Amino acid sequence: MKASHLILGTQRENPSDAEIISHQLMIKAGLIRQVSSGIYNWLPIGKKVLQKVEDIIRKEMNEAGAQEILMPMVQPASLWESSGRIDQYGKELLVFEDRHENRFCLGPTHEEIITDLCKNLLTSYKQLPVTLYQIQTKFRDEIRPRFGVMRSREFLMKDAYSFDLDKTGLDRSYQVMKEAYIKVFNKIGLDYRIVKADSGTIGGSDSEEFHVLADSGEDLLAFSDKSTYATNAELLTELQDGQDPSTLEGKESPDGKGILKLKRGIEVGHIFKLGKKYSEILNLKIQSEDKEINPEMGCYGIGASRIVAAAIEQNHDDKGIIWPESLAPFEVAIVEVNPKNKREISDKCAEIYDLMKKNEIDVLWDNREKRPGVKFNDAEVIGIPLTIIIGDRTLESKEIEIKGRQDEKPKLVSHQDLLANIID
Ligand code: ATP
Ligand code: MG
Repeated sequence: MKASHLILGTQRENPSDAEIISHQLMIKAGLIRQVSSGIYNWLPIGKKVLQKVEDIIRKEMNEAGAQEILMPMVQPASLWESSGRIDQYGKELLVFEDRHENRFCLGPTHEEIITDLCKNLLTSYKQLPVTLYQIQTKFRDEIRPRFGVMRSREFLMKDAYSFDLDKTGLDRSYQVMKEAYIKVFNKIGLDYRIVKADSGTIGGSDSEEFHVLADSGEDLLAFSDKSTYATNAELLTELQDGQDPSTLEGKESPDGKGILKLKRGIEVGHIFKLGKKYSEILNLKIQSEDKEINPEMGCYGIGASRIVAAAIEQNHDDKGIIWPESLAPFEVAIVEVNPKNKREISDKCAEIYDLMKKNEIDVLWDNREKRPGVKFNDAEVIGIPLTIIIGDRTLESKEIEIKGRQDEKPKLVSHQDLLANIID
């Protein structure tokens, strides 16, 4: 893509209301722009990154045998009355009336809708086990939206729901999803941990969270230094008794093995065994071989938009974002500098640009009429992994200057070696 055609939206100044680095950088790099508290536009570069997150999730869900559907964002409030969650969910649930005075809400999650949908869709045990998922906008009227898309009111979530005949089946479906989540977070390339969690207002028995480790994380996690014990610290009894969390560090692990260490995390995924909670209360019945049963359900969420912020929180420096390879909005930037021989340099850039495109390398050619400093700053704040620098010197020499996002200085490579250096 040519930068002259791209709506970049980068800005130099730090946004005054952005408390954490990912929020600052998402605004400065032109990924998002605020519309209202906790509500954002995604600009072209931001949308490209979000799409990459979505694609990785979608691929792993499909590989795990889950089937993609799309449910409505607007849900009848009556379903939430039937499940009893309308009061329990509280003010995070935005309820409104249509012109006929019917009450609706904006979906913060979709257990009610999916269970209702499956009432006509799943009739025989022969259809089970089945897992359905969607990637869709959620709305939660968070009491304190903050940190940009990290805790926003409108956000993109992947939510999946499994249906099984019995508990053994549920255990299996849960494990398949857990493994798919591990693949997703490994592919994205984040430093994350899986911890035991509280099932909150969703309900159900077992539940685990996936956390990206970062000092700015809102959750406190406790790990044993000798075993695999890992939990969201809000589950520890000391905390429930109202003790200061920092007194948890150094205590004996509840499994009796090792000492607890504390770290902060950003919750990016949450998986639950729901059991029969929704199938019973909303009366979803499936004909098994000899009788009608309420299926065992599981539900599995990933915060797609929060992942973008979490990835930045974990990967940045004072110049800007350093994307994990999997999420970089472009692989390479071509920057033209100080062109005395404007025409020849432009031709050289075009030649390299075509070479990149032919090799399916996602390239941004910064052909704007701007100072080199502006172009370098933009490439750095956006976090493009490699920059190719084309100037008068390139024409005179047989070598080309390239600079990795984290390199101090550019290095010279021959024309023949250029591709090999990029593809590596
Ligand atoms: P939190 O404790 O952070 O509020 P939650 O337990 O309410 O999260 P779930 O209901 O499990 O979240 O939703 C699934 C995923 O959606 C979460 O793991 C998180 O990544 C994401 N998510 C939840 N709330 C928000 C929000 N307000 N903004 C962005 N992402 C969110
Ligand atoms: Mg929440």
